[in-house]
Amino acid sequence: MSTSQSFRAVIVGGGLGGLTAALALRQRGIRVTVLESAPDMGEIGAGIQTAPNASRVLFGLGLHSALRRIRTEPQDQVRRRWSDGRIIAQLPLGARLVQHYGAPYWQYHRADLHQVLLNACLDPEGAGPVIQVRTSAGVTGIDNCDRPAAVTAAGDRFEGDVLVGADGIRSAVRDALGFADTLVFSGEMAYRALIDGELIAADPATRFLADRFHSTIWFGPDRHLVHYMIRGGRQFNVVAIAPARPTLEQTWTEPATAGQLVAEFAGWDDRVAAMLSKAKDEDVSVWAMYRRRRDPVWVDRRIALLGDACHAMLPYQAQGASQAMEDAAVLAEELGGVTTDGIAQALRRYANRRATRAGMVQDAALANKDFYHLPDGPQQEERDSRLRDFTGESLVSYDWLWRGASLNQSDVESMSYPFGG
Ligand SMILES: Cc1cc2nc3c(=O)[nH]c(=O)nc-3n(C[C@H](O)[C@H](O)[C@H](O)COP(=O)(O)OP(=O)(O)OC[C@H]3O[C@@H](n4cnc5c(N)ncnc54)[C@H](O)[C@@H]3O)c2cc1C
Repeated sequence: MSTSQSFRAVIVGGGLGGLTAALALRQRGIRVTVLESAPDMGEIGAGIQTAPNASRVLFGLGLHSALRRIRTEPQDQVRRRWSDGRIIAQLPLGARLVQHYGAPYWQYHRADLHQVLLNACLDPEGAGPVIQVRTSAGVTGIDNCDRPAAVTAAGDRFEGDVLVGADGIRSAVRDALGFADTLVFSGEMAYRALIDGELIAADPATRFLADRFHSTIWFGPDRHLVHYMIRGGRQFNVVAIAPARPTLEQTWTEPATAGQLVAEFAGWDDRVAAMLSKAKDEDVSVWAMYRRRRDPVWVDRRIALLGDACHAMLPYQAQGASQAMEDAAVLAEELGGVTTDGIAQALRRYANRRATRAGMVQDAALANKDFYHLPDGPQQEERDSRLRDFTGESLVSYDWLWRGASLNQSDVESMSYPFGG
């Protein structure tokens, strides 16, 4: 019987969820190997938002000062009407969230956030054993024995005391475990585009987007549009949701053009075309919107799923990676306190602590599909007045979400913001 200090964990997938888990386990003294199928570690060229629930987890891992250097902080969440851009509701973020939730709402370029996590995983000065990262290590099979092992396409075998499948929405680990097929195509697609922030600032029609940083959602019939600045205003990140091209259900992602993106939002407020037309074709792509149905089965003996592998959700709460980060914190708490004999039970406790909450976020994201896309009429008017009259506690409250997973860690609970350099 060994203690957690001599555990070996194999994590399949080096995305934001896998790396957060790797770092959290490392800090509990667990030896971690990350297997990543891509030839290089990295993330796609797009933005990502972390609400206080995720910021809290990342700060608990000691990443505050590194993240502060790469973050952009929106001052408000703004919801606008599609046809004339009228503000339906404006929610202050910034310092208010820090006061309420002890951590901020920050936005990043994904590659920057991923790099901060990777640096911390590999830092020889960091707490716990340095993480081993293997790239070009696509896992194709699992031996689910007492000591689980991941087997790669090249036939290499990586054995651990515990194995974590953080390999995304089309998880090979999940398939190998024979878990239920919970994948659902939503019939929608997301355009992703990164636009030069200087172009946004230079045009009088879009200048307002650079003068004060917001996290903005435009609501319209069958479509919505999300945008925010990253890299301190050097880039403007757009996620634009629309009914999917028929081919995408099979292809999952395809190139797109700025012209297609603009045409998708024809008839919307003129400022929408003004901003979207500034994208360069090579920075525009479309992605099929798939999700997983709610499913509490995340664990089999000494193998657990984490992140999109178990609770992939529509991005309409901007919470998929954030929920994976909450998973990571809880997984580390449970595994950090046991010997190898206690791993299977620790994984069950992990799933018990996480599945209900992650499922609630999946449901909330799904509900936004209809809520955001109402045609003009009585239901839309009722929605808008609910948002306008938001008093802090209502059906549209983020309170339950932003308070975060309940964690035991005294290091996280005792943090006050801002901390560290
Ligand atoms: C348009 C859009 C906007 C979003 N915005 C936000 C947001 O603002 N905030 C937020 O919190 N979430 C957001 N999300 C959700 C978020 O991107 C995902 O939930 C998150 O990336 C999931 O992380 P993950 O580590 O579980 O999986 P992934 O990011 O998919 O990472 C899985 C990793 O495993 C690797 N891999 C896959 N298969 C194998 C294999 N067989 N062997 C080895 N490695 C493998 C992959 O290469 C990848 O590196 C958004 C999603 C979309 C589509």
